[in-house]
Amino acid sequence: MVKETTYYDVLGVKPTATQDELKKAYRKLALKYHPDKNPNEGERFKAISQAYEVLSDQEKRRLYDEYGEKAIKEGGHSGSSPMDLFEMFFGMGGSRQRHQGPKKGRDCVYQLAVSLEQLYNGTTRKLSINKKVICDKCAGRGSSDPKKGYETCEKCHGSGRQVRVQAMGPNIVQQVQTICHTCSGAGEILNPKDKCKSCDGQRYVKAKKIIEVHIDKGMEDGQRLVFSGEGDMEPGIDQPGDLIVIIDEQEHSTFKRSRSSSDDLIMVLEISLTEALCGMQKGIKTLDDRTLVITSLPGEVIKHGAIKCIMSEGMPHWKNPYEKGRLIIQFNVKFPEKLDPSLVPQLEPLLPPRPVVNLPTGDLVEDVTLMDLDLERDSQMRSERRQQYYDEDEGGPGGHGGSGVQCATH
Ligand SMILES: [Zn+2]
Ligand SMILES: [Zn+2]
Repeated sequence: MVKETTYYDVLGVKPTATQDELKKAYRKLALKYHPDKNPNEGERFKAISQAYEVLSDQEKRRLYDEYGEKAIKEGGHSGSSPMDLFEMFFGMGGSRQRHQGPKKGRDCVYQLAVSLEQLYNGTTRKLSINKKVICDKCAGRGSSDPKKGYETCEKCHGSGRQVRVQAMGPNIVQQVQTICHTCSGAGEILNPKDKCKSCDGQRYVKAKKIIEVHIDKGMEDGQRLVFSGEGDMEPGIDQPGDLIVIIDEQEHSTFKRSRSSSDDLIMVLEISLTEALCGMQKGIKTLDDRTLVITSLPGEVIKHGAIKCIMSEGMPHWKNPYEKGRLIIQFNVKFPEKLDPSLVPQLEPLLPPRPVVNLPTGDLVEDVTLMDLDLERDSQMRSERRQQYYDEDEGGPGGHGGSGVQCATH
């Protein structure tokens, strides 16, 4: 039981989420709410980063689960900037290389939805991207006149900032730094009448480009494909950034990749009680459209929850696709809801004999009623009720009547 769920809610996962699930949730949301795509969701982007930063760290997560956000803040937790976390997570190099070596433009990240079938069989996908390229009409000057272009802003001498002196009271003045209004913080300005028509003085234009993405057999969720030099070009920067394509594996209705070995596939196969006891034959449709026929002979009982596997019918191994993992089948035996009581006497002699039960007699023996219980729903109802106590702030559970366990009855 965790104290708060805010961080989990922000990422849209349950408090029981695994590191893999947290990673995937962060990946999806950080890309969606990145200021480049959603300039108005800056706060949301920050909240997502903060939640992931805490929950992805085992020690911080433990602290948060036990004591809540307050403990994280009191622990002097100085979070890294949302942008740094984002770039680190996606392995982007752009901004870090700005300090040394040749200047490189910003990397772009794109998440590509890929089905499990496509990852099994391999495929080529066409990706249409919009990248910034230097305007060729003005060669990146931004001005239509080759002799003119951006000039250092005279108001702020190129710093993009202005310092104002503000009177706070008699004899007290304060220096306030603001963004330069003349150049909007850019540090340089272009005379509006010199603006290049083609790029509207921006120095770059957006160009559509089709990129072919080869999905190899056996690739998996989260894998990165780097297209060198296909990121944005920026004026005054020698090298364009890279395009990073991240594989977003879509959920499959039948198969799941194993967490411990991504080459293994896992599926749940529902069989009837009759099939479990009397033998069965079933077809399993593979990801390349073959049908695997599995057989259990009469007399071979398949137990509920039994796990069996088929060798080499899992996912192909990346870069070595002739080698495949296992297909792991977990059997789910569907019991009949009810039996006709008049048929029980005919059934019983066919089943293994029942064990002999010796019940004691006397006052200490009681007949009780068995009720159905949905544990998940039950714990949810309990935690909602507990939350109510806190909200009402009325002391312990003693203050309320009828706080007993409720069972789900049908
Ligand atoms: Zn200025
Ligand atoms: Zn131009």
